[in-house]
Amino acid sequence: MTVIEIDHARTRAGRGAVRASRVVPQSVAGRLRRIKWAILSLTLSIYYVTPFLRWDRGPNAPDQAVLLDFVHGRLYAFSIEIWPQDLYIVTGLLILASVILILANSLAGRVWCGFACPQTVWTDLFLLVERRVEGDRRERLKNMDAALTWGRAVQVATKHCLWLLISLLTGGTLIFYFTDAPALVRGLFAGDLSPTALTWITVFTGTTYGLAGFAREQVCTFMCPWPRLQGAIWDPEAVTVNYRDYRGEQRMSAKKAAELRARGEPSGDCVDCGLCVNVCPIGIDIRQGPNFACINCGLCVDACDSVMARLERPRGLIDYESWRNIERGRRGETRVSRLVRPKTVALAITSLALMAGLAVLLATRATGAIAIQHDRDPIAVALSDGSVRNGYTVKLLNKSPVAHHYTLAIEGIDGSMTIVGNDNGAPVTVEPDGSESLRVTVTMARPKDCELRFLAKDETGRTVLSARDRFVTR
Ligand code: SF4
Ligand code: SF4
Repeated sequence: MTVIEIDHARTRAGRGAVRASRVVPQSVAGRLRRIKWAILSLTLSIYYVTPFLRWDRGPNAPDQAVLLDFVHGRLYAFSIEIWPQDLYIVTGLLILASVILILANSLAGRVWCGFACPQTVWTDLFLLVERRVEGDRRERLKNMDAALTWGRAVQVATKHCLWLLISLLTGGTLIFYFTDAPALVRGLFAGDLSPTALTWITVFTGTTYGLAGFAREQVCTFMCPWPRLQGAIWDPEAVTVNYRDYRGEQRMSAKKAAELRARGEPSGDCVDCGLCVNVCPIGIDIRQGPNFACINCGLCVDACDSVMARLERPRGLIDYESWRNIERGRRGETRVSRLVRPKTVALAITSLALMAGLAVLLATRATGAIAIQHDRDPIAVALSDGSVRNGYTVKLLNKSPVAHHYTLAIEGIDGSMTIVGNDNGAPVTVEPDGSESLRVTVTMARPKDCELRFLAKDETGRTVLSARDRFVTR
């Protein structure tokens, strides 16, 4: 049976209450660290640059490529424009993101957490600043026990100022996604910002400072739901960071291991140097077995590879390897790659099907909408000549960047329609990105309960919008 913990070696830092309560990760160099730096640069660049990208949508629409316009209830993402009525598309996108995340988890565990999650990216950035200002793990641990001096106070103040600056840039950039970014920048420099903008900048700045500067691994372990879900979705065939205990144990010094090897006796490769634990941003000793809190960042892989290189032993004592292959290794069996298996294939097909479905939905989406609301009180009016009249509110929506002139008609009913204030039924102009509400009455000389359709025809006479409702006699 595999026992998986969600715990971390919080007391590994050594003696003393302060040391024991903090994870102080050591810097590490290596292949995976370089990949992490590249992803960090890419994701931060995307985050900071995207609000300033422009996208021409015509004269009556904002030209910001990505914009969440709360005032008008629109989400713009390049050529895609989502209205509140299109919430099903957002729901579809969220379902797609969940399926892709579960697929990634089945292939490589919490790899999203370790490489691209904003919490990881900003924590890495804050750690970089911390190390540049205060030094690496050894100096930081020494300083924790030392008395406060002026030099140390300056170091701490510098670090927090830099952290606050990054947090301010992060919080400031986030609100650029909600309004016109260049205009907001001009307002920022002119000291002309609305209280709402200032409030949100403060909230986002404080959140970044708190989560990346102080909460750090606590977010990945206790606040995020993803490690909690690992109990249900952890996959022993996923390529996650694992320790090849069958190769590393028994732990011993490099000298003793070399002597045993020279005599042809079994020896472990792990020299118990603790570097894999010291570099871990979560504070895990992966040699104890799989851990739900592990974010699969691979820094312990880099650390152990560097030790193995110095000892002239093969790399990969800690490596991206499936738990099943660790078990096979223990039994002396050859490793098997099972990335392609029914579960991953089914998840990949589901993701592709969802992508295709969403693409079709977006491509065939109407640029207008019609909504009918039947009068409730009175629901029907009996006229003196024996006919019956029903009242409706017809709402026409134009989501396109040009004005449309709709002619309203009804079908499926032997009756007449009148638009209040527009007796001759002239085309109704709906401005770009706008809507029109019309009061409409339908009268039947020989009344009966039946269904009817409201039709809106465009300038070419083609029916482009339609909606069903009912005519009732009482
Ligand atoms: S870095 Fe490698 S050798 Fe050192 S303790 Fe970790 S597993 Fe053992
Ligand atoms: S155990 Fe290794 S892969 Fe997991 S979080 Fe720690 S350093 Fe990253």
